[in-house]
Amino acid sequence: MKLRVLGAFGGEGLGHRPTAFLINDRTLIDAGTVSSALTVPEQLSIEHALISHSHLDHVAGLVYLSETLGFCETGAAVTVTGIDPVVSTLRWSVFNNILWPDFSKIPHADVPVVKYRALVEDVEQRVADLWVTPVQVNHTVPTTGFIIHDGSSGLIYSGDTGPTETLWRTARGLHGLRAVILECAFPNRLGPLAEIAKHLTPALISRELDKLPPDLPVLIYHVKPQFHEEIAEELERIGSARLSILEQDRTYAV
Ligand SMILES: [Zn+2]
Ligand SMILES: [Zn+2]
Repeated sequence: MKLRVLGAFGGEGLGHRPTAFLINDRTLIDAGTVSSALTVPEQLSIEHALISHSHLDHVAGLVYLSETLGFCETGAAVTVTGIDPVVSTLRWSVFNNILWPDFSKIPHADVPVVKYRALVEDVEQRVADLWVTPVQVNHTVPTTGFIIHDGSSGLIYSGDTGPTETLWRTARGLHGLRAVILECAFPNRLGPLAEIAKHLTPALISRELDKLPPDLPVLIYHVKPQFHEEIAEELERIGSARLSILEQDRTYAV
């Protein structure tokens, strides 16, 4: 499967865009960045947005994507997909005609440009050309990671999380897994903050590595831009050949 990195960071800075990935040109994993990384025809090709949780650095791109779709009038639509608390928050707290227009009724309620789909936790479900299993992780709001498979190869996406178990256990033994996409937000000196905000540091990642399916490459995303160099050095010091930081704007064959 083709994994294009639209935004690799857990925040925004000059040249640093918030978290979003595009799989096989059709399915977003998180949507912190959409319109600022894709041409209009590329945006119109998006059919699904798999959303791990409702924090803005993972959803802000949906509001501008909805506008692109709404004004192009090509019949293209995006289905916002995730567990029910995530989809409901987007529906009632973002696309609520206060913060942003309700694009589930634009241009018409029977042919909207934004649709919603609630996934069942811990169950493998078909989304576009993929099989997707959402699994709860350890964050401050309802959040899932995703195990994503196209029938021959797959990946594990952590979502935002502190130390976690179920996601790794669910993925154990699955055939064709090619990579773990794992968050890291803070450097080690901010460990207490990472604990409160339920994120990982390099020190926590070094412990998490023992729980991950063995031998898989671990690609780090969601580094806060202001800590990029510090975190990169701390990850390097772990000395694991499995670890690398995801590169924004690169397309990976997974
Ligand atoms: Zn985040
Ligand atoms: Zn978050």
